[in-house]
Amino acid sequence: MAARVLDGKALAARMQDEIRPQVERFVAAHGRPPGLGIVLAGDDPASHVYVGHKVKAGGEVGFRVDVERLPESASLEEVLARVDRLNRSPVDDGILVQAPLPAGMGRGAQQQVFDAISADKDVDGFGAESVGLLSQNRPKLVACTPSGVIELLVREGIQIAGRIAVVVGRSDIVGKPMAMLLLHRDATVMICHSRTPDLGAICRQGDILVAAVGRAGLITPDMVKPGAAVVDVGMNRVTDAAVAARLFPPGHPRRKRFESKGSVLVGDVHPDVAEVAGAMTPVPGGVGPLTIAMLMLNTLTAARAREGDV
Ligand code: NDP
Repeated sequence: MAARVLDGKALAARMQDEIRPQVERFVAAHGRPPGLGIVLAGDDPASHVYVGHKVKAGGEVGFRVDVERLPESASLEEVLARVDRLNRSPVDDGILVQAPLPAGMGRGAQQQVFDAISADKDVDGFGAESVGLLSQNRPKLVACTPSGVIELLVREGIQIAGRIAVVVGRSDIVGKPMAMLLLHRDATVMICHSRTPDLGAICRQGDILVAAVGRAGLITPDMVKPGAAVVDVGMNRVTDAAVAARLFPPGHPRRKRFESKGSVLVGDVHPDVAEVAGAMTPVPGGVGPLTIAMLMLNTLTAARAREGDV
């Protein structure tokens, strides 16, 4: 039987609809909209697309959105100066610096910039203070992708407390905060990574399985507990015909799309997992849209906190 689809796109649209009237009330109370300041440094095409989505979503809910653009040649000091200005800005309640920063800024630059964002405005939740507060279960603002996953599980009525959750991936931006959020909701959590032996045996124990790896179709049906809720965070653009053939049988609409466009966007979970799982997020249309909806919610939360609203 095919898994129930956990429709993140529909939930994200609903959340945007819920946020809009709250923004109107905020404007009525404080005479200004919540403000989101974005720093975009460099020429990375994907970053420009992501920032475009964030600007559009912010506009749709009624936020003020300021984008500070810097060239590929910008220095770390220039980025830090923009962050400093936004930290002191009375009209920007949330700040995000789009990753990745230009490679020329050096390896530690990104975290240094994240750490420079005031925790009260850290709507991506990547700064050291935000991460520390999350780990102690007294969060201010939490990373948008993992908190979007929790929102989806809760609203879809998927029980977390008392269940076994397996998170594949241990990055600072997805895997670790995801595991922390599941733990704080009383799941028993296992975290897997590239050095985990017998990944399948561990994944098969998960009542909830979250894949955040970046490997197309890594999670195959034999690795999934029958009836599990499977959340696919991965976003992989497949351009290799052999990989597309492994994921989709001949005549499948996604295979045809690959054949006509030369690429297809897939997750970390093999599509056949839908035959084993009880519920599953699609890619695209699963976790991706929720990330932006959570960014909107975090910005509203930051704005309210700054104005002393409860
Ligand atoms: P990272 O590359 O930072 O982390 C990947 C993790 O996967 C690492 O912990 C790595 O282990 C682990 N890993 C790699 N290969 C394997 C393997 N064969 N078996 C088990 N674990 C493995 O990626 P991110 O966390 O930033 O992103 C993960 C995916 O999620 C990507 O596809 C990204 O595009 C997507 N993403 C989607 C978002 C959305 O809004 N939908 C937002 C953010 C990310 P190790 O630590 O040992 O190297």
